[in-house]
Amino acid sequence: MNTYLEQLNEPQRAAVLQKEGPMIIIAGAGSGKTRVLTYRIAHLMQEGVDAFNILSLTFTNKAAREMKERIASVVGYSEAKNLWMGTFHSIFARILRSEADRLGYPSNFTIYDTQDSVRLITAIIKEMQLDKDRYKPKQILSRISSFKNSLITVRAYFNNSDLQQADLEASRPKTGDIYKEYVDRCFKAGAMDFDDLLLRTNELLARFPDVLAKYQDRFRYIMVDEYQDTNHSQYLIVRALADRFQNICVVGDDSQSIYGFRGANIQNILNFQKDYPDVKTFKLEQNYRSSSNIVRAANSVIDKNKTKLDKEIWTANDAGEQVKVMRTISEGEEGRFVAQSIWENQMNHQLTSDKFAILYRTNAQSRAIEDALRKKDIKYKIYGGISFYQRKEIKDLLSYLRILINPSDEEALKRIINYPARGIGATTLDKVVIAANHYKKSIFEILLNLDKIDIKINSGTKTKLENFVRMIQRFQIEAQTKNAFEVADLVVKQTQLVKDLQKDGTPEGVNKVENVQELLNGIKDFITDKIEEGLDASLTAFLEDVALATDFDSEKGDDEQRVSLMTIHLSKGLEYPYVYIVGLEENLFPSAMSMNTRSELEEERRLFYVALTRAESVAYLTYAQTRYRWGKLTDGEPSRFLEEIDDQFLEYLTPKTPEPSVNRFIDASLFDDSPKNIRFQKPIQKKRKEFMDKKDKSTLIPSKSRLKKVSEASSKTNLFDSEITVGNLVEHNRFGTGKVLALEGKGPNKKAEIEFGTVGKKKLLLQFAKLKVI
Ligand code: ATP
Ligand code: MG
Repeated sequence: MNTYLEQLNEPQRAAVLQKEGPMIIIAGAGSGKTRVLTYRIAHLMQEGVDAFNILSLTFTNKAAREMKERIASVVGYSEAKNLWMGTFHSIFARILRSEADRLGYPSNFTIYDTQDSVRLITAIIKEMQLDKDRYKPKQILSRISSFKNSLITVRAYFNNSDLQQADLEASRPKTGDIYKEYVDRCFKAGAMDFDDLLLRTNELLARFPDVLAKYQDRFRYIMVDEYQDTNHSQYLIVRALADRFQNICVVGDDSQSIYGFRGANIQNILNFQKDYPDVKTFKLEQNYRSSSNIVRAANSVIDKNKTKLDKEIWTANDAGEQVKVMRTISEGEEGRFVAQSIWENQMNHQLTSDKFAILYRTNAQSRAIEDALRKKDIKYKIYGGISFYQRKEIKDLLSYLRILINPSDEEALKRIINYPARGIGATTLDKVVIAANHYKKSIFEILLNLDKIDIKINSGTKTKLENFVRMIQRFQIEAQTKNAFEVADLVVKQTQLVKDLQKDGTPEGVNKVENVQELLNGIKDFITDKIEEGLDASLTAFLEDVALATDFDSEKGDDEQRVSLMTIHLSKGLEYPYVYIVGLEENLFPSAMSMNTRSELEEERRLFYVALTRAESVAYLTYAQTRYRWGKLTDGEPSRFLEEIDDQFLEYLTPKTPEPSVNRFIDASLFDDSPKNIRFQKPIQKKRKEFMDKKDKSTLIPSKSRLKKVSEASSKTNLFDSEITVGNLVEHNRFGTGKVLALEGKGPNKKAEIEFGTVGKKKLLLQFAKLKVI
């Protein structure tokens, strides 16, 4: 048997060997779905299928690269190189480029990223003189995005009274008009946004049967990973392409469908059997990734969801350690705990930083964690957030390059027409934009014809505009003979872009200059790689790569060993020996915005399931009792997901119930709605609920004043400094015995610096440390 087939269990092998026909692999987390897809492709190629005929759609470009490498190790690099593998967006951008003229687009169309789209919508709202508080650009964009992903074109929108009614009720009756203007402007600018890449592909395949036939004939074998998170638009593309040969293999886990908020449709996986009646179904139920405690803990949570397919995930792996739960006083303390724990685990088990991941629900949570990691000199890497290519200086340079390729690109042009400053003000630009809209031409065409049209711009400004146009034209001529790097280098020098940044002189300025240099290096690398691989190394290809870089692809310096920080959404498909899931508090996770309906809550639960199943050996769940959110100190209550995990799989690092010594002196009712217990025991929970139900708004004490009351109460009773003095030997329930070196602060803020035999020096808040003098 081929060695790669030996690395599979029975059902996995059966799925790999099933060559033809529609098939679906429904399987739990870590059960080898991605491995099966990878090996299946390798196997098809071993059996003589041409790489050119295989299409494989992945969640990130990085995942595609990794799969390709793995396949190359079986079939050889020169073969694997021809595989069509990547995200939906990158694959279909490539196809659209070669078929663009069919749709009236130039083949060098620009891809607008989210920032470009938001800017354009903002401009439209302003031009239409709409109330910008009511018409929030991001909100409008997400509405437009949902139309596009459901294949609701502008015309379809205006034919659909329900949709119009909904926008009317939301006090945004002009949504359709904005949609129309946005689509027209993108088209005129020769630009497609992310959703267009899918929508236009659908249009292409629906309107041109010969194009459809061509790609159906090419992609004889189609594979889709993470199928549970495809949206309607993606679903239709896959269906159309697979229609002729029906060699379609999708893999997914309904329990990991987490992009519903962005239009992903879990029904796609649930209905696959209906779409292809002779489908073969494979189930993989053995998890190879995680310890049995982790697998069973995750199962116990996801069991609470009603909508799910029937499957039983088990593992032959050892029980391993229990899932650890940690309660902290604040988000700062939470960060410090995570950093300290990573450090200890590294020391105790001789592990490099890349074995650790910290996952959170929202990007904003990373700050406190980052601070703590930096203090301990632990190197980390953040995925998502502002990516390299979104930084201003980078976008400015990229905009120059975009203009060279596609002079109609409105957003790029607006960015650079007066950057670096050349005396072309906002009023002038407004006039040009109005003229462009009036004549239904691109801004650049207006600039080329300033003398021929009726536009009130004085001659001095006209000269400046003409100089700008001439500069761009010079670049365009150079671009015909120079490679992408040489062109970019020329642009940097001639526009004095770097000079402008250097003038600044601040560390940020220096950093920006370095970033520009880094982009130039990046272009050089890109060219070298592509030429080596015999692929397209043009500036257009580079810009496309940049536009479609997912959050995973955009950061440089992957090679270094670093702790990974990311949102749970981004962690899909990945695995790490140690995983910290932070911020397990009600209203944060599950998110306050996703608790209105059962289905929203179920999506949050799936998100938690995804998070927990990333862990191989050890998982930590942490939550903070107080946290700054939107600039306000808020009280946190333990997430219901903690409550939902079967107790036997958990280990509490902090006591489950408060110790009597803490409560003795304070009026306990002050704390009744404060989450000092790691998990509420059932009777307490019930009592708490009664209390909450009884309480009306007038008796609800705001958290800050409640804290103040507590602090007054405690200082009166001198609770926190009753016994401990410098030099005392004390016992801590986790760190063991230590010696008190110093004391500082008062009342509830009183801290002791203690040297522990186990973990060294630590500063502990006495209120929570629960020390016993020995
Ligand atoms: P997810 O749902 O998170 O995407 P998955 O189902 O795609 O997970 P994989 O990532 O393919 O799972 O596999 C999980 C881990 O188990 C990987 O480290 C993989 O190499 C390993 N694995 C899968 N199948 C086997 C097997 N038969 N023998 C040994 N290891 C395996
Ligand atoms: Mg996977």
